[in-house]
Amino acid sequence: MTPLRLFILLNPAIGLVFATVFVVLWLNQRNRPYILMMAGASASYALAVTAQMTIPAMPRIGLNTMTSAVLYQLALSLFVDAMLTRVGVVGNRRWLLGISAVILSLVAYFFYVDDSLSTRIYVQNLGAGAMLCFAALRLLAAPVWKPIDRVLFWVVLLTGLHFLPRTVMTMRVDVPAGMITPENFGRSLFYSALGFALVILALLLCLTFLLAVALDIFDDLRRERNGDSLTPLLNRRGFEEEADRRLVRLHGAPASVIFCDIDRFKSINDGHGHAAGDEVIRAVGRLIAEELRREDIAGRIGGEEFVILLPQSGHEDARLLAERLRARIAELHIGALAGATLTASFGVAEAGPNEPLDEVMERADDMLYRAKRGGRNRVEG
Ligand code: GH3
Ligand code: MG
Ligand code: MG
Repeated sequence: MTPLRLFILLNPAIGLVFATVFVVLWLNQRNRPYILMMAGASASYALAVTAQMTIPAMPRIGLNTMTSAVLYQLALSLFVDAMLTRVGVVGNRRWLLGISAVILSLVAYFFYVDDSLSTRIYVQNLGAGAMLCFAALRLLAAPVWKPIDRVLFWVVLLTGLHFLPRTVMTMRVDVPAGMITPENFGRSLFYSALGFALVILALLLCLTFLLAVALDIFDDLRRERNGDSLTPLLNRRGFEEEADRRLVRLHGAPASVIFCDIDRFKSINDGHGHAAGDEVIRAVGRLIAEELRREDIAGRIGGEEFVILLPQSGHEDARLLAERLRARIAELHIGALAGATLTASFGVAEAGPNEPLDEVMERADDMLYRAKRGGRNRVEG
């Protein structure tokens, strides 16, 4: 047995290892069905290779040909569906089933009706290539793109594209198309090259997908750790982490901080209940989130205290936003308050060049304190 053949034997083993990894991952992340689909894809792939290597080739019966063709097709379809489902591109099953039915019908035709191994090789390889290229193009419809999605796109597209030259070239240089028989095909360079390429590509596809899933989980954990429980805003830790990152990227542009504290919140809690207080916090948080531009961030940093960072905005713009928020909060109608007025006070400060975040926040907080002493429902700074 040549080292190359030995290497090809790794194929089903790799498929099974990934199937196990994806199943274990899915058991811990059941809200992500695409992980289970990927486990199915890896397992079908392992079975397809095993079937191809172990089931004896029998003329006219075609157990080897048809079993491995069905399993390869299943593996490919599950992989494509998992990849597209992960990024929120749905409705793939119909076209995957359609293409698979066409490919499998052609394979069956060129076995049972017009037996031609070389045509079957073309159909299966070019079919797989076309499916992957089309899947890569469908990936472009994903609503959001992370950097790892770009990597996945290129890996899938190049894997799909490589089927075309490789199938054509290897068939030409190796065995004349008409003389391919099941016996010499098994010993051909094409067969070995195919197996070798599949090990590498399957590994690359599985590893890229695994990395994408890991990054999805990290992203969700970070969002959970840094997000506020009541509002769509960040919590204190999330705000400070993100604000530091954005301040570093300023490169001399101005930035401002707005502090906001709901007036007489204790009496809202005491008079209308804690649930009403929570409803007020939610409404104010939603309102602040509505007013943010893409570059702004906001967090709830205390019970009913909010902070907003406006990169690219000077003092005057920040004051205007604070004033707009103040007016909108005073107009809020909150059912649980039964008509009682709701107001908030604001403090504004512009960051000096290279001023640390905590110092600007402290100045904005001083301004907020001044707004409270000045009678509340006002903007200072
Ligand atoms: P001021 O106008 O001076 O700000 O008066 P205030 O009553 O709002 O004073 P203060 O900011 O000290 O009161 C904050 C209160 O918010 C105290 C606490 O009981 C309440 N609180 C803190 N976190 C939450 C929360 O998550 N939900 C609710 N409902 N209340 C909270
Ligand atoms: Mg308050
Ligand atoms: Mg407060």
